[in-house]
Amino acid sequence: MSDTILKVRNIETYYGPIMAIRGISLDVRDGQIATVLGANGAGKTTILKTISGIMDPQKGVVEFDGREIQKRDPDWVMRQGISHVPEGREVFPFLSVNDNLLMGAYTRSDRDAIAKDIELVHSYFPILKERADQPAGQLSGGEQQMLSISRALMARPKVMLLDEPSLGLSPRLVKEIFTIIKRLNVEQGMTMLLVEQNANIALHTADFGYVLEVGRIVMEDTTENLLQKEDIREFYLGIQ
Ligand code: ATP
Repeated sequence: MSDTILKVRNIETYYGPIMAIRGISLDVRDGQIATVLGANGAGKTTILKTISGIMDPQKGVVEFDGREIQKRDPDWVMRQGISHVPEGREVFPFLSVNDNLLMGAYTRSDRDAIAKDIELVHSYFPILKERADQPAGQLSGGEQQMLSISRALMARPKVMLLDEPSLGLSPRLVKEIFTIIKRLNVEQGMTMLLVEQNANIALHTADFGYVLEVGRIVMEDTTENLLQKEDIREFYLGIQ
């Protein structure tokens, strides 16, 4: 089995006096996709923000590549090799699609490799080549999601954190984007931690899954096993 590259142990994170995540532990294995499933408000975004340094946990440890990274600032975490694709995409609307991609590579100076990576991103998302000179704000929601994922890839991360890439997209686009997420994993070896409300697509994309309810992990298993569990089928997949 592959090694654990990202290890979260017993983290607790608060908004003021409110504890949003209550002692979360999870593992992301090198080369795999792990997913955290949960309803609105379960704490999915808070987990990712705690890993990427946007929020500090009150307790607990986040270990990446054998090194503790909790309570470091987001820029430092990103430079260690963790790219966060935030909920709601957050592209730079007035910059061109191409400049958004270059923003993703701002920590790098290897110009030839950056140009090659733009070509690689274009091979996965050809629409971004077609729209290279347009302001990112003019892209559709799906295209902005593609750009947000691509911008994160431009940092050449070891792990990508994906916050609800399905949000607000049509079923057809969700399928298209998740097919590419899986291809990036299989073809580029990209390790990912994916948080999702759309349990169906997440369980069919990831290798290992955690179920989050009100800030706690209540179930964890391979996605293959989770897909067979009655509770998951009934409450998360809507299968009677
Ligand atoms: P969503 O899919 O809606 O983003 P989520 O699972 O990502 O949900 P979080 O955004 O992590 O959930 O929120 C976890 C809990 O923390 C929720 O109860 C939420 O109301 C609370 N929370 C989130 N942001 C804040 C904030 N800025 N101030 C106070 N409480 C917050």
